[in-house]
Amino acid sequence: MNAYLVEGAHGWSLVDAVLHTDEAEQALHAGLADAGIGVADLRRVFVTHLHPDHLGMAGTLERAGAEVLMHAPEIAAASRVWSKGHEAIDATYVWFVRHGMPRDVDEGMRQAWIAMGERVDDLDHVAGVNDGAAVDLGGRATRLQWTPGHTDYHAVLIDEHDGVLFAGDHVLPRITSNIGLYPTSRDDPLGDFLGALARVRDLPVKLVLPAHGDPFDDLAGRVDELLAHHAARLDATLAAVAGAERDAYTIARMLFPVLRSAHEERFALAETLAHLRHLERKGGVREIAGSPARWRVT
Ligand SMILES: [Zn+2]
Repeated sequence: MNAYLVEGAHGWSLVDAVLHTDEAEQALHAGLADAGIGVADLRRVFVTHLHPDHLGMAGTLERAGAEVLMHAPEIAAASRVWSKGHEAIDATYVWFVRHGMPRDVDEGMRQAWIAMGERVDDLDHVAGVNDGAAVDLGGRATRLQWTPGHTDYHAVLIDEHDGVLFAGDHVLPRITSNIGLYPTSRDDPLGDFLGALARVRDLPVKLVLPAHGDPFDDLAGRVDELLAHHAARLDATLAAVAGAERDAYTIARMLFPVLRSAHEERFALAETLAHLRHLERKGGVREIAGSPARWRVT
């Protein structure tokens, strides 16, 4: 996981705030010390999206004096996902059972999610930024662009002057970011993601700073690989449905034969559902109500 420290003429900023574990906190302190600063020197923290490895320590940094900024609608989504009442977790449990998840695996998902929430700080004040608005990082001008898909309101920052893209989890090298359908998701997260990839493809960017993996320069090339990847996965999903009417969990196990944890099972099912929903919106498959719900080719 990468967090990016940005030096501007008017102070230091951080893009993404690591998971709040002892290990990550020490790594953050060490990284700041390398730059000759401490946590109290951070003026601003921009969080690309609500996932725990991005939002985790934001509350601690805020209480140390930083202003925390996020894409405005992602703030409400974050408070739903990390609510101490676990409403989003409970709704997802029901949703996954409806799509064929075995209850013991679903319970593992539930416990893992609750444990992860303990690595995310409570946040008192987060400043909301609208799509297209300027975000000043200590005198360095960037612009927020909404890039839905990985989360509903994920956003990247573009520094057009220097040709730098702070990409969060939108465009990653080597791995593909998880695109999942959840009960509270926007209607077609994969359709959102493919559209958002197309909208960043031709930005005037010379350097992409992803949240996972090494910085890279060929944004358009990587976007094309990701578009091709999802086109192939859509074909594979359609082929899995074409063989027989199946529930989404069964299809997920066909598409992802090796799954090593409740986390991976959850991502696989949510990702499969995102592909099924996108095919459904394009008119290729249809969801048949039932328990579990099944999918058939139209
Ligand atoms: Zn993420």
